[in-house]
Amino acid sequence: MRRLLIAGNWKMNMNLSSAKSLAEELKKETQGITTIDVAACPPFVYLTAVTEILAGSKVGVGAQNGYFEKEGAFTGEVSMGMIREIGCQYVILGHSERRHVLHESSEEVNLKTHAALAQGLTPIVCVGELLAEREAGVTDAVIRRQFDGSFSGLTAEQMKKTVIAYEPVWAIGTGKVATPEQAEEVHVGIRNLITERYGKEVADIVRIQYGGSVKAENAKEILGKPNVDGALVGGASLKIAPFMGIIQAAD
Ligand code: PEP
Repeated sequence: MRRLLIAGNWKMNMNLSSAKSLAEELKKETQGITTIDVAACPPFVYLTAVTEILAGSKVGVGAQNGYFEKEGAFTGEVSMGMIREIGCQYVILGHSERRHVLHESSEEVNLKTHAALAQGLTPIVCVGELLAEREAGVTDAVIRRQFDGSFSGLTAEQMKKTVIAYEPVWAIGTGKVATPEQAEEVHVGIRNLITERYGKEVADIVRIQYGGSVKAENAKEILGKPNVDGALVGGASLKIAPFMGIIQAAD
């Protein structure tokens, strides 16, 4: 049985005070959660404050990105070691906003995935097609290309430690959620890709989250699909009530 992971991607939202308050509320409200994993991914500058508040709680903390080099002259970048050192467990990599707005390639995502694993972080690697790609019937090919590029060179043991987030770009922040059937179809395809490359034992372990307009109201139906192992949540993770609704639906 794969343990569901509900992760909140706060993106470039919040201020120091609201980040701390949400972390305090999360710590309190998740005390009784035992059957699933929960994580919060604030902007870099709030990570220290949030990890301090959530230390010893049911909620893990993740960064929204990280650089693949260990140290040096890389102005503006933050290494995986730095992220680990302040107490994070997760790092989101290759989010569609990074792929499409900041032009991050699967090759860069791959370097970052290796760097994250080397530091003992769990990479949450995002893949997903654009609306035009879905309409053109090339979703499978897009996911395969992103999967191959992002996970290239990983050993089976490393692959087991990753989390994949399937996030159809057309469903992110749009209110347009994929149907549970559409999500399950792609999740099965991703699990088949893992089986092809690493065998069934590995494929059965890797968690595949769905992301894209997940809310308390639609969470249960999507999370009820056998190959959906949690959710990466944007907008609905910024306030305690909607995020707890999703966490409770998963729990
Ligand atoms: C996301 O940012 O990963 C996401 C899925 O956003 P939203 O839930 O707002 O669609």
